[in-house]
Formats: sequence, C-alpha cells, structure tokens
Amino acid sequence: MIGDLRAATAAETVDADGHVVAPGFIDAHTHGDVAMLLPDAHLDVKTAELRQGVTTEICGNCGFSPFPADGPHAADVGVLMGALTDGVAGPWPDLAAYRDAVSRAALFTNRVPLVGHGSIRAAVLGFADRAPTAEELELMVGLAERALAQGAAGLSTGLVYAPGLYAATEEIVAVARALRGTGRPYVTHVRGETDMVADSVREAIHIGREAGVAVHLSHHKAAGKANWGRTAETLALIDTARTEGLDVTLDVYPYTAGSTVLHSILPPWAQADGIDAMIARLRDAEARARIKRDFAEGLPGWQNQQRAAGWDGIVIAACAGRPELEGRRADELGADPADAVLDLIAEQRGRVTMIAHLMREDDVDRVIAHPASMIGSDAIPQAGRPHPRLAGTFARILGRYVRERGLLDLPTAVRKMTALPAARFGLRDRGILAVGAVADVVVFDPATVGDRATYDEPLRAPTGVGAVVVAGAVAVRDDALRPARAGVVLTSER
Ligand code: ZN
Repeated sequence: MIGDLRAATAAETVDADGHVVAPGFIDAHTHGDVAMLLPDAHLDVKTAELRQGVTTEICGNCGFSPFPADGPHAADVGVLMGALTDGVAGPWPDLAAYRDAVSRAALFTNRVPLVGHGSIRAAVLGFADRAPTAEELELMVGLAERALAQGAAGLSTGLVYAPGLYAATEEIVAVARALRGTGRPYVTHVRGETDMVADSVREAIHIGREAGVAVHLSHHKAAGKANWGRTAETLALIDTARTEGLDVTLDVYPYTAGSTVLHSILPPWAQADGIDAMIARLRDAEARARIKRDFAEGLPGWQNQQRAAGWDGIVIAACAGRPELEGRRADELGADPADAVLDLIAEQRGRVTMIAHLMREDDVDRVIAHPASMIGSDAIPQAGRPHPRLAGTFARILGRYVRERGLLDLPTAVRKMTALPAARFGLRDRGILAVGAVADVVVFDPATVGDRATYDEPLRAPTGVGAVVVAGAVAVRDDALRPARAGVVLTSER
C-alpha cells in the first residue's frame, strides 16, 4: 500500500535520484492468461512483461479466454486456446476455477481476465459455421453473465478467428448486452484490419450503441499496403462516436508487424467444424486449390491476411513441433510457399504462430498519439521466436517514441500505460501513485530506458528499468529478478 511511511523502517531502499517513479505499467492487451503455468525453463518468456515495468496485464483478449469450458462443446475451448498456449493447461469451466488454478502458480504480474466470446461460442457451438439457435444464444448469454458475475473485466471478441468470425453482428449485440450496467467494456479485435477496416470500426461502434456499452478497440491498425494511411479515417470515426457520447477507447503496440496464429490466414470456410475438419481440407487436393484461389482473389467480408502481408511478409514465430522453422519466412519454406504453409498447419495441427509485416510507421504513430489510445503489447508469451513486443513494448514507447522521436511527452506516455488502462478496466487502486493505492511501482531512467528486443533476438530485456515493485515487493532490481511473486488475479466488483 502507498501511504505516509516516514515512521516506518525500510528493509530495502531504492535510490530514485534522477529517475522517474511511476505506477507499475498496465498492459492493456495481452494473451498471458496461462503464461504463469509455462515451465520455468522459459523464465525469460514468463518475466518479459515484468522486466519492462509491467505489473498488471489485461488478458482474455481477441475472444480467447481459457474459460468457460462449460457446454455441449466444452472441449473445443481447449482446442481454441491450444493454438496460443501450446496447451499448457486448462481450459476451466468458469472464471472462478481459472482463478483458483492459476493463483496456485507464481504470478510475476497481476492478471485481469476478460471473458472471450470465441471461447463462449466454442463451448456452445464448437467451430460450427452457423448462427446459434435461440436456445444456444441463451446459453451463450448465460455464460457471459456468469463470467461477469465472477468478475471478468469485460467481454472480448476476435472476429477474424474461428469461431468468432461466424458470429453475425446481432449475435454479438445480444451477448454484449450482458455488460450493460456493469461499466465494463466490449473489447474487440474487429472483423477486418485490412480492406474492411473502416466498416469493421463502424460495426464495433454499432455494437456498443445497440448493446448500450463502452467499446474498446484492440491493437488498432490499418494493415496491408492498400490500406496504409487509413487510420486517419478510422480515428475520425472514433472521434465522431466519442463526440456523440459513446465511450470508445483503443489500444496499440509500437511495431509495424503483428503476430497471431498461422491458420488465421485461412478463409473462414476452411476453418469450420474444428481442427480435424480443417486438416482434412488442407490435405484434400480440391479444397487446397480453392484455398489458394481464395488467397489470390479474396472473398467478400473476409480479411485476407495472406494477400495483405505477402508470403515474404509472414515469418514463423513459435512452432514447438518444428523449432528449426522459427524465424523463417514463409517464402523460404518451399518452392510453393502456399503448399509449404498449408502442410505445416496440417502437420502441427494448428499449433504454429506467425509474425506478419503489415503496417506502416505513420499509422502506428497516429494511433499512439491519439488521446483515447493506451498501450497494449498484444504479447503472446511463447517460447521460440515470439514477436519482440512481448519483451519490448513499454520500454520502446519510453525510449523510441518519447525520448528519441518526441511523438509523446513523458507524462502522456506514462498515462497511456497506467491511469488510462486502469480507468478503462475498472482498476481503482492501480495505475496511480496515491495514498491507499496498491504499491505497484516502476522506477526507470528516462535517459537510458529503451527496448533491446528485436525480431532476431526477441527476448532481450530492456535497459534503464531500475526497479519494479509488485504489491510492495521488489520483483526486479538493477536488471536482476528477485524471488517476489506477488501477482494476483484481479476481478471486478462493480
Ligand atoms: Zn487480436
């Protein structure tokens, strides 16, 4: 707790002369739901957020949460999560069970779970490419309500991923209505970040209005060469909605490449009905030819990431089954990159992630500078060759965007990493240094703080972070990890 401790004696003193003392950073967007359960051999992955000064992570993003595995297709929640977590653990029947299970592990940082619409839909309908029946929709709403009653900080969607991409707007409105009156946001990875980006932002705003809830846009961007520059258009849509009274915020990471599961490049029909059906299609000559045609020609209403990035813009990130491929570009994998990639997805049963080079710097800058944006790494904590955003995001903002380029002043940057996400996700005693707040604190040197994580060496710890304190316990000091494991799972009680 932060308070007047002049009469107390300190077990340890941190000399912060010439340094900035800030609230511990809150990462507005991660996929670190089960990272604490990774083996300790991957300590560099598990501590990558903490070492930058992050003390709290909003997880359960993009429709993926490791609960609620409860319903006729409960096992499919594990399949959905498996692509992001390599099946480390889970899924769990509800948020309470998830919290119990992960709280027994050592948490370096706090977790604030959202409940994922993709997981809810998987539990009820599996990976079926159809609308829910009235009864199924009622089940889905019930699962959302239970997760919110147990303290989920919001509801997330991932409308480019099966099964979220099979959901019509009205279905999402119906489930998002469970948020009404809670003050918690509808958090969305929108339906398209390439050609459909403006319509997708419009859809998110429409859902917020129809459901009567706040909207938070995840990792906002304009992807694919043809769409570079279009964040001017999407941010104007957001500004208009805000002026009209809708509570809309967004998060962003400071890189021009994204990262996600490799099979998300497949057209929706090819991902339907679960992993076995997907693999059967990949191995069927006729279906494979159709997939390749769709890569080349696109489909209405589908975000074609392959065409947006090109095979030379797609790099294998984590692939536990074929580690020798990590860091390789798709166009280096075989004479026909499409065949090589489709073979790999089938062989690895979808457990492959990629880095996709899709954005331009001026769009990233424009989103970072927007007053309603906050910083979210979108980190997928996996061994292998993860995106450097896992270990670099927060230090990179302070080093490159504040000190070197002056895109943000220091207080604005710190606010985007602390008070703003705390307010968005209902964390009343975090993200601020005030009497009574929890002592999550970071001490950094504004003259030297910076990221060292690169695409080739993605897990290098940053420079200039002198101390990180989680709930009063020193967790990092002078680049060295301490035994403190003071993180907890935080749930909402409003
Ligand atoms: Zn996402």
